[in-house]
Formats: sequence, structure tokens, C-alpha cells
Amino acid sequence: MKTYARIMKKGNKLVGFVPTMGYLHEGHLAVIRTARKQSDVVILSIFVNPIQFGPGEDFKKYPRDIRKDEELAKSCGVDILFYPDKEDMYPGGFSTYVNVEGLTDQLCGKSRPGHFRGVTTVVAKLFEIIKPDIAYFGQKDAQQALVVGKMVDDLNMDVTIKTLPTVRDDDGVAISSRNVYLSKTERKDAAVLYKSLEAAHQAVESGERNAKKLVERIRGIISTVPSAKVDYISIVDARSLKGISRIKGEALATLAVFVGKTRLIDNMILNTAVPGAIRAGQPKEVRHAAKKYGPVRSIPQ
Ligand code: AMP
Repeated sequence: MKTYARIMKKGNKLVGFVPTMGYLHEGHLAVIRTARKQSDVVILSIFVNPIQFGPGEDFKKYPRDIRKDEELAKSCGVDILFYPDKEDMYPGGFSTYVNVEGLTDQLCGKSRPGHFRGVTTVVAKLFEIIKPDIAYFGQKDAQQALVVGKMVDDLNMDVTIKTLPTVRDDDGVAISSRNVYLSKTERKDAAVLYKSLEAAHQAVESGERNAKKLVERIRGIISTVPSAKVDYISIVDARSLKGISRIKGEALATLAVFVGKTRLIDNMILNTAVPGAIRAGQPKEVRHAAKKYGPVRSIPQ
């Protein structure tokens, strides 16, 4: 991979990179297609990164289907699929980690201690191996994109981070590899995450600025679904991720909710900077209507 990356650099090719954990879906593919449009060479990595999973989390059962992923990657014009082994990335004696402080203290960083340390460590390694000009991330994992951006700034890394809009199914559910864990009923229930965020957005549009009231509105809607259990609901500054009491400028409504045993995350930008345009500046979210309910592929046994 390093040799290939060096050749691309010498040839003055603009290298676009999309890091993923695989089990590709329409959310990933939208990111890849944008990279395809914007770069000479598109490199996709697939690596289920063990160090970003906590004890008792789903590292072992995380869905994997490299054959299908290869086909999908090819169909979207990926030039190189980088698919390292665990042992390649973390050989015995591995002991160096990258940790972004501050931004990782709250939200998913609080619920999943060590998660972002695992993410930034693997992304730093991938950047070092691939040396991309542009790396693409999804707004669905808003905190991850901000944390990686901070790492790049703080460590003077020579890569531009681009964050692309969340791709949703036609009922609003953010597409995720983990949606495959949901039963048919849970998959229907999962729509409550988006529904609650939409309600918060509507409330802000109607003039509500009190963050606590917005959180309670979101919580109220989620509580109507018995299979849903809130991990966190938070309204934060969209850049610093610090809690805010009033919506001003660009805020992020963000949440993590267990639907059955599956932990799902979602978020929505609330922008009051321009009166009458709450979501001004928010990248237009994309709906992918091809799938209805239920897993598209079953987990390979
Ligand atoms: P993952 O394989 O889940 O680690 O995701 C790889 C990249 O794809 C991350 O930058 C995610 O934020 C992005 N991504 C995953 N799901 C979506 C989605 N529904 N819409 C947009 N980007 C996504």
C-alpha cells in the first residue's frame, strides 16, 4: 500500500481516501461516489478496528462480507481496496496511541471510553500509510469527523477532511451497518430517532431556543417507543461539542439510543444564524429509497 501511495504521489495524483469498517451500504457508497468525483485515485479501506470497540461491544459479531464489499467498491469506481489484517495493523508489542483530548470527553466519548482513542489511532496509521490528499467522513458520525479534524489540525497532518451528509432510508433512519442487527419491528421503531430530531428542528423553526426544552421534546418522542432506551440526548455547539443552554448560531442535536440491544446514533444540525433558515449551511441530507425495512443482507455465519 505504501509503495502504491508513493507512486501516486510521484505521479501528482490527487488521492481521495474513504476509511470504513466495511459491510458497505448506500451511506458508504455515497461517500465513495463523492470521492470518485473529486479525486484522481480513490482508495477505500476496510478494517474492523478492534481497539475502538470496548469490552462487551460487538467487535466479534460486527457484520463482515468482503466479497460483496469488493463488488460494491468496484461498481463505485474504487481504485484500491486496502484490507489489512488485525496483525498487520497491530503487531505484537504495539504500544503507541493517538488521543484527542476535550472533544472526546462527552457524547459517545463518555458512553464508550477509549472509543475515539481507537479511532484516531487507526486513522492516523491509515493516513501515514496512504498519505491521502482528501479523506472523507460522514456527518452521521459527527463527533468522529470533528475529532479526526482536530487530530489533523493539532498534528499538522497534510490531509483535508471532508464531511458529507447523512444518507437515510426513506423513513428517515440513518443507514448503518449495525441496522442489520435490528429485528423487523425494531427496524420500524428505529425511525423514532429521526422523528424526534425532526421535531426538535421544527420546534427551533417555530422559535424555541431553550436546549433543555428541546432535549425533553426529543426524549418525549423517543419514550413513545417501548423498545427504545436513551443512552444520551444532547444539544451542543456544533464545533466544540460543548453543552449549550440556548440555541444560537450552529448547534447540533445529537443522540444515542438503544433499540432493543442495538445502539444507534444520529444527529441534526440546527442553525439559527440565518432567520427563517434553521438548517442553512446544513448539507442536504440524502434519502435512499431503495430499501424498506429489515436487513438487506444477513450476517454471514
Ligand atoms: P463505518 O464503516 O460505519 O465506520 O463508516 C465509515 C464512514 O462512512 C464514516 O465516515 C461514516 O461516518 C460514514 N457513514 C456511515 N454511514 C453513513 C451514512 N448513513 N451517511 C453518510 N455517511 C455514513
